Amino acid sequence: MENPAVITPRSLATEAVHAGREDLAGLGVHAVPLDLSTTYPSYDSRGEAARLDAFAATGARLEGPPVYGRLDNPTVSRFETALARLEGTQDAVAVASGMAALSACLLARGSLGLRHVVAVRPLYGCSDHLLSGGLLGTEVTWVDPAGIAAAIRPDTGLVLVETPANPTLAELDLRAIAHACGTVPLLADNTFATPVLQRPVQLGASVVLHSATKYLGGHGDVLGGVVACDEEFARRLRQVRFATGGVLHPLAGYLLLRGLSTLPVRMRAASQSAALLAGRLADDPRVAAVHYPRIGGAMVAFEVCGDPHEVIAAVRLITPAVSLGSVDTLIQHPASISHRIVDERDRRSAGVSDRLLRMSVGLEDVEDLWHDLDGALRAAARTPAVTSGS
Ligand SMILES: *Cc1c(COP(=O)(O)O)cnc(C)c1O
Repeated sequence: MENPAVITPRSLATEAVHAGREDLAGLGVHAVPLDLSTTYPSYDSRGEAARLDAFAATGARLEGPPVYGRLDNPTVSRFETALARLEGTQDAVAVASGMAALSACLLARGSLGLRHVVAVRPLYGCSDHLLSGGLLGTEVTWVDPAGIAAAIRPDTGLVLVETPANPTLAELDLRAIAHACGTVPLLADNTFATPVLQRPVQLGASVVLHSATKYLGGHGDVLGGVVACDEEFARRLRQVRFATGGVLHPLAGYLLLRGLSTLPVRMRAASQSAALLAGRLADDPRVAAVHYPRIGGAMVAFEVCGDPHEVIAAVRLITPAVSLGSVDTLIQHPASISHRIVDERDRRSAGVSDRLLRMSVGLEDVEDLWHDLDGALRAAARTPAVTSGS
């Protein structure tokens, strides 16, 4: 049998379909086995004691059969292997949601006494809230990218950025930021770009976070989070996951692994439509501004001249709903929903205006999407513009 360690590098599309599944033919199966066991029988409790001691000491992935579902699950671990391969990292650790992933990172660093975080706005609303509220005992300093180096302290455990950022799609120069971080790990939330459009570790980030709920799952039916990183940080995250219990359900692991296999195809197709819609919106007099990242992607943010709430009320094919990354197109008003929890002044200073709409473009026919958007913009143009926020 082929040794996975010596396989020549494969393209992302190939890895998306095969990573984490190399042993299937040897097992005599074609679909990935879904292991729903919470516990595993073992007649060798001396051996289990030694393996548990090793995990407590190092946090390394368990060798041999699993012990208990909160420690390890074979289906979830396939998803972790595959995602690490796509992001080009040594390892990955999957948890119950994107917020559980961020929490695990903060706890992993905080437990070493490194409780200070330097972060750049905008971030996803709940990430902003988790840092601002200090719920996990962290303290945050918000900076512009140029202020990162000066904000770093001896107890800084992480520098946290999103690019393209939720919801404005603002882009950051990860290479320059990684340089400014020095020895402090740079955590890049890569939820919007996915490894199809951007691999942050190649640009100098050391930790890559995903809300797997979005593009990795891709069908709006799984909550999950995952952190791709080096083995040392992954070990710490596994210990945090074991102690705090924010595990990913095996069925979610199964669905996320399946989602990865179509990720490159979905991202490319949706990005093509998103770019086309962004171009039409930019030329449209009913639209005040369009934000579309240089690296592309399936997200479009735009500010309407009329009332954005009327656009939300008027879409018919597009679903008015929070979240993103599904096969169907979703639209939402960040100031009301995804970023509602962020203080109004902070929200506006981060560029999240009250007129901003965030659209996650799916796989529908692009002319059908435009027809729906056009109708919704027409409805909004009949109402006066919102006055507050800029
Ligand atoms: C949705 C989202 C999160 C949080 O993920 P959940 O899976 O909802 O917990 C974190 N970061 C970004 C950029 C997101 O869009």
